[in-house]
Amino acid sequence: MFRNWQFWSLPRRVQAALALVDVAALAVSVLLLLFYPIHARDIAGIAWFAACAAAGVETSRRAERFRERHRDIPHKSLNAMWFLPAALLFPPGLVCLLVAVTYGWLWLRVVHHSPHRWLYNAATVMLGYATASVTFHALARHVAGHADLTANSTVLAACFVAGVIALTVNFALVSMAIALTTPEATARQLFGGPSQYLTESAAICLGVLGAAAYTLAPWLVLAGVPVAALLQRTLLFSQLQRAAHTDSKTGLATAAWWHELASREVERALRRSEEVSVLLADLDHFKRVNDTWGHLAGDAVLAAVANEFAGNLRTYDVAGRFGGEEFVVLLPATGPVRARTVAERLRSSIAGLQIAVPAGDGSGRGTLADRVTVSIGIAALPAQARDLTGLLARADMALYAAKQAGRDLVCYLDGPGEESGAVPPLPG
Ligand code: GH3
Ligand code: MG
Ligand code: MG
Repeated sequence: MFRNWQFWSLPRRVQAALALVDVAALAVSVLLLLFYPIHARDIAGIAWFAACAAAGVETSRRAERFRERHRDIPHKSLNAMWFLPAALLFPPGLVCLLVAVTYGWLWLRVVHHSPHRWLYNAATVMLGYATASVTFHALARHVAGHADLTANSTVLAACFVAGVIALTVNFALVSMAIALTTPEATARQLFGGPSQYLTESAAICLGVLGAAAYTLAPWLVLAGVPVAALLQRTLLFSQLQRAAHTDSKTGLATAAWWHELASREVERALRRSEEVSVLLADLDHFKRVNDTWGHLAGDAVLAAVANEFAGNLRTYDVAGRFGGEEFVVLLPATGPVRARTVAERLRSSIAGLQIAVPAGDGSGRGTLADRVTVSIGIAALPAQARDLTGLLARADMALYAAKQAGRDLVCYLDGPGEESGAVPPLPG
């Protein structure tokens, strides 16, 4: 089973980096357990937090299993609300033990794939809380001479600092792994978005509250269990909502979601008498890429092209995957002249791409030898259409003209749409 791990198909340097973090987590845990004196009451306390964390896992098990079946929804947890109090209240080695027990319990109770990733996640969390715990105890002793949370508000403030340290270490190690295993990862995949930061902040706050509750009365920590279950479900709901709107291969909006966003934007533009442009892009001779290099390589090309869309547009432009190898972009407050500049920039940056693709024989990755190009049709409102359907029809005609004129081209057919009786001129 160990031999079948996906880990072994990763490049050597990635394997080394991931294994190094795993070994470091183990070594740090052992050293901390040996170095800091541990009393019987600490062991009783950590066992209590382990029970609460396990109860948290049990109450959110259905949500977690659902997430497991939809593998593109990443695992997110609020375990920080158990780990942070443990890092603050007990000698540092014990939080490593709590992380190991909780991750082990999750592994047993929720069906899992990618064991090496799971192990790596556990290691990053361990290193994060170990760093936080050591720093907190040193800081608290330095400023207050003790680590008693209730005695001093400076010590309480240090709890939040510890939470930020734990999550920063964890986050940095996870981002490093993503950058190593997925070189084409977007900035958002690497650094997360606002909702992730909100979740992490909530977990830190709950962690500090949990630590304060424990110092008041240990049984009070149990009140966190239903809170954890509710938050876990809310998190899953928002993740599902996002997943339903996102095309899994490219990370762009799905056709249906793009349509909804674009309809709203077009209505707003008509109300305010503003301009809106649409770009319809289709990869040239994409069938050849699939036929020559295989569908997996084709998928890597789609992802790389989508990445260019994301990187070359403003945050309020809306890019979507229209279907197969067709993409669509809505450019709010943009007339045809500016739209042409944007389309040209996209076209030339896609034509210059060096795309890493999985080799057809499964022997790692190589660079696609063919140049990937795209043809783009542009349409603008209100000059050419009065609604989204008209705009798309017009962009489709321009795209067809770009293909006819030789591909790797941007085309804008001057003049109003067919409904006003004009015959579009040939592209120049
Ligand atoms: P043209 O320049 O005229 O657009 O030629 P083309 O080969 O790009 O167009 P055609 O419509 O003949 O082929 C589109 C190809 O896109 C065929 C289909 O297999 C491929 N395709 C559609 N969706 C996917 C996908 O999700 N992954 C991969 N790998 N290929 C896809
Ligand atoms: Mg097509
Ligand atoms: Mg095509």
